[in-house]
Amino acid sequence: MLTSKLREALICLKAGRVTLPYPFAPHDPEPGFRGKVTIDADLCFGCGGCANVCEAGVILLTDSGQHTRVLEFFWRRCTYCGRCQEVCPEGAVKLSQEFQTATNDAADLYLRLEVFMGPCQRCGRCFPPPTPLERMKRTGFRADGEGGRA
Ligand code: SF4
Ligand code: SF4
Repeated sequence: MLTSKLREALICLKAGRVTLPYPFAPHDPEPGFRGKVTIDADLCFGCGGCANVCEAGVILLTDSGQHTRVLEFFWRRCTYCGRCQEVCPEGAVKLSQEFQTATNDAADLYLRLEVFMGPCQRCGRCFPPPTPLERMKRTGFRADGEGGRA
């Protein structure tokens, strides 16, 4: 009994350290790790594909008027399945390597994104303005804008 325990102890000592020093040292997840979801607002054109496939109900999509589509992200519900990343045609949604998502502030896990859309003159349905310049027109500059913008 005693000898078997000593043998076990020797094996353990011989193996050296087998665990990572995290959280005392940074830890980089393996490639392909599905961490915190990020969104690039400049790439999103409001198609709603991500909202359609999200089983956890993280993404809520509403149209507030004919020109604005609102996407709300409730990240606290996310299960990191990665389906939103798979379907996004623009690569706007990505799962990052970030895994330290604990927070005391619920606002950290909420995002509201407004996408400016153009309504079809015939059917009234929204579509994204085709060029960045036209998107800027939709958003609009102030007439008395600073820096001489009109
Ligand atoms: S990773 Fe999955 S659960 Fe999280 S937002 Fe994307 S589709 Fe929804
Ligand atoms: S994030 Fe991608 S899938 Fe979701 S609404 Fe924007 S463009 Fe569509």
